Amino acid sequence: MVVIIDGDIKSVRTKEAEDKNICLFEIIYLARPDSKLDGKSIYLLRREAGRNLAKECPAEGDIVISAPDSGTVAAIGYAEESRIPYDEGLIKNRYVGRTFIQPTQELREQGIRIKLNVLKENVEGRRVILVDDSIVRGTTMKRIVGMLKGAGAKEVHVRIAAPPVKYPCNLGMHTPKKESLIAGKKTVDEIKDVIGADSLCYLSLEGLLEAVGGENNYCTGCFSGQYPVNKDLL
Ligand code: SF4
Repeated sequence: MVVIIDGDIKSVRTKEAEDKNICLFEIIYLARPDSKLDGKSIYLLRREAGRNLAKECPAEGDIVISAPDSGTVAAIGYAEESRIPYDEGLIKNRYVGRTFIQPTQELREQGIRIKLNVLKENVEGRRVILVDDSIVRGTTMKRIVGMLKGAGAKEVHVRIAAPPVKYPCNLGMHTPKKESLIAGKKTVDEIKDVIGADSLCYLSLEGLLEAVGGENNYCTGCFSGQYPVNKDLL
């Protein structure tokens, strides 16, 4: 409660929250890696998620690369755990924003083209393990896998440091509706075929919650369909 009397502002906590329900999607994707949420380092949580991903979804590869920037920390964790070297495979143009929130498909595809370039020297003739934090519509991932193969990657194994995003956010985060979410209508195997990867594996919700510490602290709505509010309010 914020109390303002005669220009004097006071902030008063009236009740301690029982469950915090911090947005799990913010932890894996939106937050900056150098920030903290609930006192925890986003960098360390993502790295741990990457380590758990390597345990749950091993792959035979020559190099671990990330889809920059949000997949980078998880890729470092994956490389540490799997003992497969991490290196750069995609270089980002830092002057382009997030593509999944562009309003039209055309703008999103245009954004991806301008946003990323393949570092051919590092991927040509190699089995690439590509780590990212999420697949939302699937269009970005399809394009990236195509770019890597076009640059001569022998195999592309996609590893996602979170469970499939199957449900929309009904709590204010600007994610697409269910019909636009690729995991909302396709199986993991079907998604693998759509994006053109040689294999695809997602971290389980248990594995992600174990990495970030404590299932009661997080909203998992877009992964589980269980939102931490009364259904009548959605
Ligand atoms: S449903 Fe919304 S608030 Fe909950 S984790 Fe997903 S994006 Fe975050």
